[in-house]
Amino acid sequence: MSSSKKRVCVIGAGPSGMCFLCQLEKLRLEGVDVPDVVCIEKQSNWGGLWNSTTWRTGLDENGENVHSPMYKQLVANSPKELSFEFHDYSFEEHFGKPVPSFLPREVVFDYLNGRWNMKNVRRFIKFETVAHTVTYNPNSDDFTVVMRDVSIDLLLPAQTFDFVINATGHYSYPNIPHYEGFETFPGRILHTVEMRDMTHFKDQNVLIIGGNFSADDTSLQLYKYGAKDIIISYRHYKLELIVPENITTKPIPTKVVGKTVHFKDGTTADVDTIILATGYKHHYPYMDNDLKLKSANLFYPDNLYKGILWMKSANNRLFYIGAQDILYSFTMFDAQALWALRVIIGDVKLPSREAMQADIKHWRDRMEAELSPPKRSFYSILEFQTEYTLDVADEAKYGYNLDGREMMLEYLPHFLEKPYTGSKDFQARSIVTGKIAPLHHTDFLQNYDLSLQSYLNSK
Ligand SMILES: Cc1cc2nc3c(=O)[nH]c(=O)nc-3n(C[C@H](O)[C@H](O)[C@H](O)COP(=O)(O)OP(=O)(O)OC[C@H]3O[C@@H](n4cnc5c(N)ncnc54)[C@H](O)[C@@H]3O)c2cc1C
Repeated sequence: MSSSKKRVCVIGAGPSGMCFLCQLEKLRLEGVDVPDVVCIEKQSNWGGLWNSTTWRTGLDENGENVHSPMYKQLVANSPKELSFEFHDYSFEEHFGKPVPSFLPREVVFDYLNGRWNMKNVRRFIKFETVAHTVTYNPNSDDFTVVMRDVSIDLLLPAQTFDFVINATGHYSYPNIPHYEGFETFPGRILHTVEMRDMTHFKDQNVLIIGGNFSADDTSLQLYKYGAKDIIISYRHYKLELIVPENITTKPIPTKVVGKTVHFKDGTTADVDTIILATGYKHHYPYMDNDLKLKSANLFYPDNLYKGILWMKSANNRLFYIGAQDILYSFTMFDAQALWALRVIIGDVKLPSREAMQADIKHWRDRMEAELSPPKRSFYSILEFQTEYTLDVADEAKYGYNLDGREMMLEYLPHFLEKPYTGSKDFQARSIVTGKIAPLHHTDFLQNYDLSLQSYLNSK
């Protein structure tokens, strides 16, 4: 190793951090002089939220926060053709044939394993190692990172890095509201972070509080797994979905008395369980205060140039990948990762600070204008994030078309018309191969076998 080589610390081996490792390895194989990289990962395997499901809630076996809130029956809520399919590794290449559009968790994880094994990037990762503290040193213009080996609870000697890529995700620490009467509610109150098995709610009357993707997905799964009556209570806006008879939508609760929930419109309902689909918090306890992104889950969090580069301190040396709310996901992370890498190796030149601030303002003003109620819709979100992703990909010289609008404009009417009776049976066209996905052998609502093996037996 040449002593002049820059050193990069990637925190987190989920889809975002792994995109950085894959892009780095790709450029290395093309002969580019890439920096040295160390990726640290809290869990014993890569994959982030998609790594596995667990019965655990709260703390994991090492006393760390359980990272993944994914439940047993999870099936992705966006078509793989938009969110997951990498141009350098299609689903068809991985599975040897075209496969259906909506993937159970295990299938997503299998696909990710395929790309990462093919790229041979496991060698960069130190597992069961958490970022304990990350400090930027203005005098030496670098970072001190202290790591902890969680398997033996041991702080490791501090290391110095020139750049830090933060890729620890933002769907692990729940945002939990309080309503009057929660203390005396006789049933269970839980956040979606604690949902492990949708069959637990069979025959129950369930109130879901929250109005975003996770509320929609939770209600769909409750419907499938036999909850009796489902109420979705929205704070800001009512999504434009058509719902079945046993699902009703209401404004926010004002209070809870016994098992009776009172809503803002004066109506009441008796419920057995309250599920808080109230989102997650950006939480990076290991970061020094001046490095910490603090934000709600937004499509353009503040202080990040191109939605990636930390502006508040650290002299353009700290990058957040995957920090925004998502519609596109792995595909967007891949473009972001390449952009960050190109900044590090000097291929992308940063403009003046004023120009970077103006760019952030442009996107945040646009977000405010287009993604706030009443204008916010799946269509406006699609438009916003497509244009953002294409902007990053263009500057990173990503080299592939990531525009999923044409495919999503076919999918969205289908989704909005029958979200509970077939949206996950939609067959999307792959942007990578141009082929339409085959049908799954069993309709989503009737399919209780979510194994990889069963999925591969598609028609
Ligand atoms: C219930 C649920 C369903 C979802 N469904 C979809 C979907 O259908 N489609 C979609 O596109 N997206 C979905 N998502 C979003 C999901 O977050 C992304 O798909 C993706 O996993 C984000 O990747 P990431 O690498 O940014 O973060 P993560 O997947 O969260 O990975 C972060 C990694 O960082 C590690 N880590 C955390 N802290 C530390 C530390 N201090 N030190 C070292 N390592 C650390 C974690 O162990 C983890 O491996 C869903 C999210 C949830 C919660």
